[in-house]
Amino acid sequence: MNSAVVNSVVVTGGSRGIGAAVCRLLGARGYGVVVNYASDVDAARSVVADVRAVGGQAVAVQGDVSAERDVTRMFDAATELGPLTGLVGNAGITGDRLARLDEQSVETVRRVLDVNVTGAFLCAREAVRRMSTRYGGSGGSIVMVSSTAAGRGSPGEWVHYAASKAAVESLTWGLAQEVAGEGIRVNAVAPGTVETDLHAAAGAPDRPQRVAATIPLGRAGQPEEIAEGIAWLLSPAASFVVGAVLPISGGR
Ligand code: NAP
Repeated sequence: MNSAVVNSVVVTGGSRGIGAAVCRLLGARGYGVVVNYASDVDAARSVVADVRAVGGQAVAVQGDVSAERDVTRMFDAATELGPLTGLVGNAGITGDRLARLDEQSVETVRRVLDVNVTGAFLCAREAVRRMSTRYGGSGGSIVMVSSTAAGRGSPGEWVHYAASKAAVESLTWGLAQEVAGEGIRVNAVAPGTVETDLHAAAGAPDRPQRVAATIPLGRAGQPEEIAEGIAWLLSPAASFVVGAVLPISGGR
C-alpha cells in the first residue's frame, strides 16, 4: 500500500492566538503539526483535537522556547510525525504591562528578550541543523513572527518588545542569506494589531479596539488572517521568496 508521506512542522506557541490558527490551517493542509505550548495544556490539546477532526496529524509538546533542551524535544516530536520541513517561530511575549521604558523592570525586559530573541535563535538553529543540506537534511522553510512594532518602536507601550522584534527581523535577514544555498528559505511576517490574549496579558484587553481607530482598514486583525500569510511563506508557492518580512497589518 502507498501511504503519503506527511511533512512535519514545528509551530512554537501553537496553543493560542496566531499560533493556534497556524496549527489548524497547516493541519488542514496536510502537514503533521507539533503544537508547542508553554503552560496552557488544555488549549494545546484543543488545537490538536481540531487538527485531528479534519483528518490531520498533530501532537502537543510542552516546552519553553528559551530552554535549549525543550527546543530539542519539540523537534524530536516532529520527526516522529514525518520528515521535518518547517518551523514557524511564533512564540512571543510582551511583558505584563504597557509602560514607558523608564517604568519597565529589568526582569521584564530580560524575560521578553529571552523568549522573543534567544527563543527565536534556538528554534531557528535547531531547524537549520535538521533541515540544511549542510547537515544531510533535505531543506525546508522557516517563518519567524515579528511585529509591525519593530518599525514603530511602540513608544509609551512596549519599547523593549519592539526592540526584540527588530532583532527577530535582523535574524531573519541574516539567516536567510546564510542558508538559502542549503535548501532553506527563511522569511518573517510582521502582524499589526491582532485580536488575541496577548493584549490582556499586558493588562490591556481592550487594546485592539482602541488601536482599531488608527488602522486604515478600521479594525484589528484576526489570527486566521495572519496564518494565511505564514502558510504561504512556508509553502513551495513562495519558492523565490527569501529574507522577506511580510506586513499583515490592515495598513498600519
Ligand atoms: P498569545 O495569544 O498571547 O499566545 C502566545 C502563545 O505563545 C501561547 O501559545 C503561549 O503558550 C506561547 N508561549 C508564550 N511563552 C512561551 C515560551 N516561553 N515558550 C513557548 N511558548 C510560549 O499571543 P499572539 O498574539 O498569538 O502572538 C503570537 C506571536 O505574534 C508573538 O510572537 C507576538 O509577538 C506576535 N504578534 C502578535 C500581535 C498581536 O497583536 N496579537 C501583533 C504582532 C505580533 P501558552 O498557551 O502555554 O501560554
